[in-house]
Amino acid sequence: MNTRAVPVVIVGAGPTGLTAAALLAQYGVECLVLDRRESPYSRPRAVHLDDEVYRILARLGLSEQFAAISWPCRGLRLLDRDMRVLAEFARDATDGKHGYPQANMFDQPELEAILRASLAGHDTVTLRGGSEVVALTQHEGGVRVDVTDPAAGQPGAVLAQYVLGCDGAGSLVRTCIGATMRDLNFAQRWLVADVATNADIGQWEGVHQVCDPGRPGTFMRIGKTRYRWEFRLAPGETADDYAGLARLHPLISPWTPDIPAAELEIIRVAEYTFRAQLADRWRDRRVFLLGDAAHLTPPFTGQGMGTGLRDAMNLAWKLAGVLDGSWPDRVLDSYQAEREPHARALIRLAKLIGAAMTQGGEAGNLLRRVAAPRLRLVPGLREHVLDSQTPALHRSDLVVRHPFRRSLAGGLCPNLVLPDRRRFDDAAAGRFAVVTLAIPAAEQRDHVRHCGAVLLEAAPGTGLHRWLRQGRAHAAIVRPDGAILQSGRDLAALITALPSFTAAARSRALPGTIWGLIRSDLSLIRSDPGPYPDTWTSDHRPPLRSRLLPFAWPGAVSPT
Ligand SMILES: Cc1cc2nc3c(=O)[nH]c(=O)nc-3n(C[C@H](O)[C@H](O)[C@H](O)COP(=O)(O)OP(=O)(O)OC[C@H]3O[C@@H](n4cnc5c(N)ncnc54)[C@H](O)[C@@H]3O)c2cc1C
Repeated sequence: MNTRAVPVVIVGAGPTGLTAAALLAQYGVECLVLDRRESPYSRPRAVHLDDEVYRILARLGLSEQFAAISWPCRGLRLLDRDMRVLAEFARDATDGKHGYPQANMFDQPELEAILRASLAGHDTVTLRGGSEVVALTQHEGGVRVDVTDPAAGQPGAVLAQYVLGCDGAGSLVRTCIGATMRDLNFAQRWLVADVATNADIGQWEGVHQVCDPGRPGTFMRIGKTRYRWEFRLAPGETADDYAGLARLHPLISPWTPDIPAAELEIIRVAEYTFRAQLADRWRDRRVFLLGDAAHLTPPFTGQGMGTGLRDAMNLAWKLAGVLDGSWPDRVLDSYQAEREPHARALIRLAKLIGAAMTQGGEAGNLLRRVAAPRLRLVPGLREHVLDSQTPALHRSDLVVRHPFRRSLAGGLCPNLVLPDRRRFDDAAAGRFAVVTLAIPAAEQRDHVRHCGAVLLEAAPGTGLHRWLRQGRAHAAIVRPDGAILQSGRDLAALITALPSFTAAARSRALPGTIWGLIRSDLSLIRSDPGPYPDTWTSDHRPPLRSRLLPFAWPGAVSPT
């Protein structure tokens, strides 16, 4: 009987699970991804992601592949029910401070295909389709994951050190850990229609929001020849009322007046209930919730999937540090502490945009007609609407900031071009980075190196120099996910607070020891749910150095 635990089992191979697997693979962490489906979910859902999320894809080495299936969005137009433009917030297509366009349109199944294909390049990841997770049981040393193959109906079990529940809105993992979704008072039924045409539709290449409480709607191009419409359904209406072009055409014809119906092909028409929900608990001991399993965001701001990818980015390196033996398990409590308020803020924003589109009846329409054309005149509003920046992370063990004083901590370090022409992320390469205006002493350099981090001196005239100055800091510690752990004026104090993290260095050298076992198919998935060992161990041992390094944790230094 094989009782060796897989370091990480990921339940769900949607965009969140696939991203988590790819990020863990970069740290050499072995993982097994289980999905009930044999192939990716083919129904189009997400169509937009911002530059912070693009940056995560770039971290996976997928920026070129994503560029090939996406294009920058031209901005946002608010329309009244007669299709008159109330306000326009145009964007240029140039790259923002993260190195990528701030708003990008794409088709979710194409992105999932790229993510899936990228896993094939990692011999530490195994993706098993046709594996439905039916139960989780936590024991002191690990988690038992019960699986059935829906086709064969054959039961099995796998042992995991940690489980990531990336199993979407109806998450079984969430139920298994006794977490529930808290409703944030938003539920609307919307019709989602994807249509293909080779005809030139001749519309403005941005997102069109129809601000009409009677029939709010959204229109945008999502592919070379594909277009997305979303309309709120009236009480009593269903998607069936719009099945077939004859029924759908009256809704979409304002955008397609000159295109014969015969040249429009419906790809699908579906009904979704857009909800705003947050799980009350994102972690129970060794089990975590990520993505739609932890939060649901109405899609008005195009952030639901991006929030899941941010979850994966936040947790992957922390898990690598804990599995590596460098850090205590309590570090993982920072996951919910940081991610939940961030997700809540994005949900709140999506609700606000939804309300602006849909509420207020005729009075609201009048107000929008009067106020919207003047919005662009409000100082700073245009920048605010177009700025893709999301809120800073709240305080945690890994975000050290003064409650009242302004600091860079919790925000993202911009992915600037460095003097050697590399981007910041390429130089940091998944490690901690110390960015400093002051020139460090030799022993400080040694310490940074021993901690597995990279030191970046921000010379006058460089973007990093300006960024630190604007943040009133002389130095900052940037975490492997790009968020700022701490900033301040005292380089020595910051360097003392630098955690030791050697997982990034180890990843390239790690052999795929455990995968012979998993790839020999059911060797880790047992059909006899037998007795459990008292301790489950993996052959996965941290390198000697990281075990010998003393555990140094931020917080010893008071925020400056
Ligand atoms: C109409 C619409 C428009 C949207 N637009 C946007 C947008 O523009 N931008 C954006 O960022 N987001 C958008 N979203 C949201 C986005 O699609 C989701 O947030 C995203 O798909 C969530 O990804 P996930 O990986 O967390 O979950 P999912 O994509 O739901 O994946 C979950 C996976 O888990 C598997 N699974 C479930 N249960 C089990 C089990 N018991 N055992 C094994 N496998 C299991 C499923 O088969 C599935 O593959 C939109 C959503 C909708 C509906």
